[in-house]
Amino acid sequence: MTFLRKKQEVIDPYAIEQCSSCNATKKRKFADGDYVFKITGKCTSCNNGQIMISKIYGESVK
Ligand SMILES: [Zn+2]
Repeated sequence: MTFLRKKQEVIDPYAIEQCSSCNATKKRKFADGDYVFKITGKCTSCNNGQIMISKIYGESVK
């Protein structure tokens, strides 16, 4: 006999971007080609540091 498995979890991937200079962090949706330590651009808060992806993780969608 079979049991219904619980609903498959949907995971939404996110990337945490961090400035190398002022340490400002920003959370945004993961985009294709993202990887940890990737430089994504200049910081708009301090106009000095570079924004780097510091973490990629998934959140389950409810
Ligand atoms: Zn900065």
